[in-house]
Amino acid sequence: MSNSPLVKYTKLSPNHSGKRNHVIDTITIHCMAGNCTIETCGNIFQTADGKPDPNKASSNYGVGTDGRVGLYVDEANRSWCTSSGTNDHRAVTIEVANDQSGEPWHVSDKALAATIELVADICKRNGIAKLLWKGDKSLIGQTDKQNMTVHRWFAAKSCPGNYLYEKHGYIADEVNKRLGSSATAPSVPTTPAQPAPGFVPYIVKVTATTLNYRMGAGTNYPIKGTVNLNEKYTIVEEASGAGAKKWGKLKSGAGWISLDYAAKV
Ligand SMILES: [Zn+2]
Repeated sequence: MSNSPLVKYTKLSPNHSGKRNHVIDTITIHCMAGNCTIETCGNIFQTADGKPDPNKASSNYGVGTDGRVGLYVDEANRSWCTSSGTNDHRAVTIEVANDQSGEPWHVSDKALAATIELVADICKRNGIAKLLWKGDKSLIGQTDKQNMTVHRWFAAKSCPGNYLYEKHGYIADEVNKRLGSSATAPSVPTTPAQPAPGFVPYIVKVTATTLNYRMGAGTNYPIKGTVNLNEKYTIVEEASGAGAKKWGKLKSGAGWISLDYAAKV
């Protein structure tokens, strides 16, 4: 597991629980409730004796008003950020600086833009094909319907502030554009694929919550869209390629899926 190449400053906090017990499938954006630089935020997450302090907090990343990104807890580890262990085991947490004090806890355009790029990068590296936001607390944990959460759902806090809360739909749209997964993108007509010579087509069932399909057999090919858990598809060709043991070509002609996340039925 890697950290974002967008990081400009690293100050690892002792405040974390070690390795996550869940894959990363959620993004939780917070506000600092202050205009901290990424260096100051890093210092706040330190402790006097360098040992974890359960009364203190941390986040995986921070974004400053200047748009710079800090790393405080490796993505592989569970941060102490959202007042919910369950959430923080699966979410990458991001603290964003506020350039005005008090509600709506405004953030700078630079910070908002940097947050979008950071989240897009996190999604790409962790196989999150699409960000989903409905502003619906009852969907916590149902990442096939909503994979962004907010601190105010887990504790009596206004975090991430009304400004960022209201921007969540915009953030999801902008991230999805970068993931090539816009919900509003027109669907591209596809020509059904013919089976490769001598290949006997077979049916698979998707075993991941969401799975990207791509232009070609490998994670180096652009994402065209996603398929969902338990959906069945006919595979007409197999190939090896980056990021999976084997790739399978969809009969629809829509693209290729990793067969690591599909079981023959
Ligand atoms: Zn928060």
